[in-house]
Amino acid sequence: MLLEATPSVVDQEINPWQSAAHRFDEAALLLRLDDGMCKVLRMPSMELTVNFPVTLDDGRIELFTGYRVQHSIARGPAKGGIRFAPDVSLDEVRALAAWMTWKCAVVNIPFGGGKGGVICEPQLLSESELERITRRYTAEISEFIGPERDVPAPDVNTNEQTMAWIMDTYSMHNRHTVTAVVTGKPLELGGSLGRPEATGRGCMIVTMEAMKRFRLTPENTRVIIQGFGNVGGMAARLMTRKGFKITCIIEYDAAVYNPHGLDIESLMAHRSETGSIKGFPEAEDVDRFDALLMDCDVLIPAARENVITSANADRIKAKILCEGANGPTTFVADSVLAEKRVFVIPDILANAGGVTVSYFEWVQDRQGYFWNEAQVNERLEEIMVTSFNDVIAFAAKHAVNNRTAAYMLALDRVANAIRRRGLYA
Ligand code: GLU
Repeated sequence: MLLEATPSVVDQEINPWQSAAHRFDEAALLLRLDDGMCKVLRMPSMELTVNFPVTLDDGRIELFTGYRVQHSIARGPAKGGIRFAPDVSLDEVRALAAWMTWKCAVVNIPFGGGKGGVICEPQLLSESELERITRRYTAEISEFIGPERDVPAPDVNTNEQTMAWIMDTYSMHNRHTVTAVVTGKPLELGGSLGRPEATGRGCMIVTMEAMKRFRLTPENTRVIIQGFGNVGGMAARLMTRKGFKITCIIEYDAAVYNPHGLDIESLMAHRSETGSIKGFPEAEDVDRFDALLMDCDVLIPAARENVITSANADRIKAKILCEGANGPTTFVADSVLAEKRVFVIPDILANAGGVTVSYFEWVQDRQGYFWNEAQVNERLEEIMVTSFNDVIAFAAKHAVNNRTAAYMLALDRVANAIRRRGLYA
């Protein structure tokens, strides 16, 4: 019996939709949201599943499944990335779409929340297969996206090239160029300066705000980062430039450690040469799972969901947890971290730098007038610092932890927008 019961508890803990629902319920209860409003905010407003064929390079036809979920369009067009991965599921995309609604509300940008995904194994697909998958998926969802409706962006395993294909496919269907249909595009197609670094930069900005509470300066702050891609890699690069000591980088296949701080640019060069961070001469290879639990001041999980769970939360040593990924901590682990007094910068605040500069990109595309990098970075900093202070003030006022405060603040903003609009029926 016990053996049967255990997996279901674990399943619940790691199902992102359950995790999102749990945090939602807690915040809604504390805000005393009425039942009707809870029903509206709890469920995505649109869920689309598409099954579509693509011809592979060897001539075979493969059928792919993709999703696009719009959780809320109450405060503006749905906004959120598209991920390509073998374990994408409707529940995951739903949770990620809801998190985008809350994230955009926390940083107070005029968007709702959406997310998309295609079940595929990008590492096993050629560039032209990826292009065909992207274009056909775009055609399947094209009626539902658009600058005023739903604006996709990069996420796990998608990048600016993917966005260029989406923009082109959508534009071909509409018979004119529509740059504002996606963000995270290449610069020459209406992308924004500063967008590739934005999520990592946002993580650094909020971490530095949190450090003021611990009297930490970059020079005496040791950082462990999980993930070395768009979020983790950029955070590592920018933080090293500021003087932080990045003592450990953890990837999906290896982890490297140097107590004096890793040289991030050489580590990047090593990975481009060898295909992995493994065996980096200026560091020691360590176990990927133990690495999360090593002594440090700041831990930045910047890869995937469910990294900090009931199985390891009690052994986390970091003073500050800055969630670069979406959903890296399970709801069961939340209470363990709270007991240990880890200062958590929750995902919907910590990684909001990406969508904030996406918003800047959308604004620039619609105006046809582009900003310089200093303007982008300055405005990003202003929004991140204000949002950090809003969340911290909310936490103090309501005597709740930072995550609950961020959810409460976001739910309140979205609920207010819905109340103001009223129901059309
Ligand atoms: N995929 C990123 C996120 O999870 C960026 C979304 C966007 O820019 O729309 O926040």
